[in-house]
Amino acid sequence: MVPSTITIDGPVASGKSTIGYLLARRLGYLYLDTGAMYRAVTWVALSRGISVEDEAAVTALAEALCIDVIPPTADDGRQYTVLADGEDITWDIRRPEVDGTVSVVAAYPGVREAMVAQQRRIAAAGRVVMVGRDIGTVVLPEADLKLYLDATPQERARRRWLERRARGEDVAYEEVLAMMLQRDRIDSQRAIAPLRVPEGAVVIDTTGLTVEDVLSRVLRLMEMADP
Ligand code: C5P
Repeated sequence: MVPSTITIDGPVASGKSTIGYLLARRLGYLYLDTGAMYRAVTWVALSRGISVEDEAAVTALAEALCIDVIPPTADDGRQYTVLADGEDITWDIRRPEVDGTVSVVAAYPGVREAMVAQQRRIAAAGRVVMVGRDIGTVVLPEADLKLYLDATPQERARRRWLERRARGEDVAYEEVLAMMLQRDRIDSQRAIAPLRVPEGAVVIDTTGLTVEDVLSRVLRLMEMADP
């Protein structure tokens, strides 16, 4: 049986989004990058002048905000389009100020509750590749195939630094590395749904591997699971 529900977790820039996107396309499955949802709440809070330290206000926003992650509506390199109350915020959620504050927002229990409920509703129909930090541990622990991607901090920072430079940002590698380590620390040390290797997950170290290497490894795993 081909796995119908596939989860991919891992730290910043471990390759989850790239592999998740390509795998979903290959299988004709829905791709949901749950990081985009936490980023959407964070960006809307920042843009409305809500302090990310104000847990009650941010939680109320997460409960009220209508977030849609839909197939790309523009041909500008995006994997998907993110709408918040109908407004296209696809590129806004990649801003450095979102990178710097999203982990604080994602640690609030009420925010997570609102996001997880939506994620489970989306996954209920099956044929989905869902990517994040707590998908195999909390959101969909019964998934058919659970993957955990990782790579050395230096390699992950280098990938993120190259991405940001390609977008025209003038940013130092050391700054990218420091911010990444800080985000990983908050994500793996928070009380609720911390980043962990899910029980029964296949761990893939993507250090030194190309995207094609990782994808073919995942496809081989699926063939092995399909007698
Ligand atoms: O994957 P991405 O880097 O876009 O995720 C942004 C942030 O959203 C993560 O650093 C983490 O704080 C939060 N997140 C989470 N749970 C998920 C996905 C993302 O807490 N399932």
